[in-house]
Amino acid sequence: MAEALCANAIEGLKKLLSERSDLEAVAAAKIKQLTADLEAATSVERIKTGFTHFKTEKYEKNPSLYGELEKGQHPKYMVFACSDSRVCPSHVLEFQPGEAFMVRNIANMVPPYDKTKYSSVGAALEYEVEHLKVENILVMGHSCCGGIKGLMSIPEDGTTSSDFIEDWVKICSSAKSKVKAEFSELSLTEQCSKCEVEAVNVSLGNLLTYPFVKLGVMNRTLNLKGGYYNFVKATFDIWSLDHGVSPPLTV
Ligand SMILES: [Zn+2]
Repeated sequence: MAEALCANAIEGLKKLLSERSDLEAVAAAKIKQLTADLEAATSVERIKTGFTHFKTEKYEKNPSLYGELEKGQHPKYMVFACSDSRVCPSHVLEFQPGEAFMVRNIANMVPPYDKTKYSSVGAALEYEVEHLKVENILVMGHSCCGGIKGLMSIPEDGTTSSDFIEDWVKICSSAKSKVKAEFSELSLTEQCSKCEVEAVNVSLGNLLTYPFVKLGVMNRTLNLKGGYYNFVKATFDIWSLDHGVSPPLTV
């Protein structure tokens, strides 16, 4: 409704503008405002229609699943995934509500244990492992990752051009160094693909710096897995912590 009114008003103003050049500045300002209103109305409408579809097609059709959720959560998986809009694990791996606890950040990185920074990751890990007793942690990399490209593109002279991004992605600097050393003949794009996988391995190693994670792995109550979703080829690789000894399984 609001969209139609805005669209009609914009058309009316454009007509007026073509007839009355003396009103150009006033009409242009009004069109700009109406266009902004139209975009705002459209974005709210998208949220409303999305939720309505979810409610009628999923929530109301699965009362047993959604009815259980109020009792608590016991997810079997904790997933570290990139914030990238193309790689949502619930979509790609079809996790159902209550099945996977997610941490999403730039380039799906797990920083090493440090109580003075990265506390959001530490808190999520502590909650999942110590309190919810999760059985599997999956670090899921992906193709065409902008965060990894950012890491691979940081100048060697140490100059920085971002407030947060470069400092964050440097968590996986050792992956960059390894790829640059071993695959110097490859193009930047190919090196980025290699680094997308190596960065997952660095994160798997970093997970072991958390005492409660290490204890879970030693006691065999917790499994650490690496994953790589290639959305260009539509493949998913999954491997254990001992990647290199056991080759990844490609789905
Ligand atoms: Zn990414």
